[in-house]
Amino acid sequence: MKYVVSATPELVERYGRLFVNRGAYTLQSMRPDPESGRHHYYRPKTGPTGQELGLNAVTIRRHLQGEITIGLYAINPVTQRSKWVAIDADYAGAMEDLLKLQYSLQQDRVDAALEMSKRGGHLWIFMEAPALACECRVYIYNLALKLGMRIKGRGLAEGIEIFPKHDEVRPGEYGNAIRGPLGIHRGANRRYWFYGADYDLEKQMAYLGRLRKLNEEELRSFIAGKTMPAEFDRKPSAPTSETILRSSGHEFRILDHVGKTRKVGRNYVTRCPSCAEAGQDRSGDNLAISIDDPRKYLCWAGCTKEMIRRAVGCPIPVRRSA
Ligand SMILES: [Zn+2]
Repeated sequence: MKYVVSATPELVERYGRLFVNRGAYTLQSMRPDPESGRHHYYRPKTGPTGQELGLNAVTIRRHLQGEITIGLYAINPVTQRSKWVAIDADYAGAMEDLLKLQYSLQQDRVDAALEMSKRGGHLWIFMEAPALACECRVYIYNLALKLGMRIKGRGLAEGIEIFPKHDEVRPGEYGNAIRGPLGIHRGANRRYWFYGADYDLEKQMAYLGRLRKLNEEELRSFIAGKTMPAEFDRKPSAPTSETILRSSGHEFRILDHVGKTRKVGRNYVTRCPSCAEAGQDRSGDNLAISIDDPRKYLCWAGCTKEMIRRAVGCPIPVRRSA
């Protein structure tokens, strides 16, 4: 029997207040990619001009009712703030790490809700009012490192992932999206619940509503004197090297250096050369290259541009200080 749920307008509104940071969102494909078997996320478009769709009450209701599955962005591009931090872990021992984090957060009197996922879980912290992404990141990165946790990226293919993944997004950028809670995962064809309440939409949302929300003052007290650990500092790197390459006519073209690509939404998707070097990305879909502008590419496992360029034997020239 098919499990039918309905989400009331009131529930939809509460969900939006809790989770939605900006209008843009992603949609999980209903059909798996024929090669990887994964249900990829893409930014939905409509109409003859192909303008992007923004989140609205109908979209959220359909997500909660399990008809579609949306991904939510962590940063509002106008304020560079987020209503939440989500920590994603999906490796062996992931749950243990998330529980350790949850316990440690509790020591700071920060409530965190643990949501199940396909392999592992997502740990959510909610803000009283949207907080600066960069400050949220300083807090959680330092906490995780203090606990000896592995964080994905910078050469490490396995570990927790912390959303927001950027300190800020520039105009036209989106940062990273995470599966919106309480929907149905297309790949697993099931709904993943939060552990703290009965498996019922109303009860789950009531539970999330009761959690103590972190306020900016507390957050700032936690990060006083702390900075982003250097190895994870993703401040936009100086554009100089790329600019020089471009003006000298020897522009680096990532498409010349990767294997077979396929089109997924607005991107080419292929095996990430840096992941490949580490024996990762067997399904060959970690690297997304913008079709519109192939100079933009991104590894979903967190490899940096520097790592990818190194892996294909075209390292980004080091900018010499004057
Ligand atoms: Zn990679």
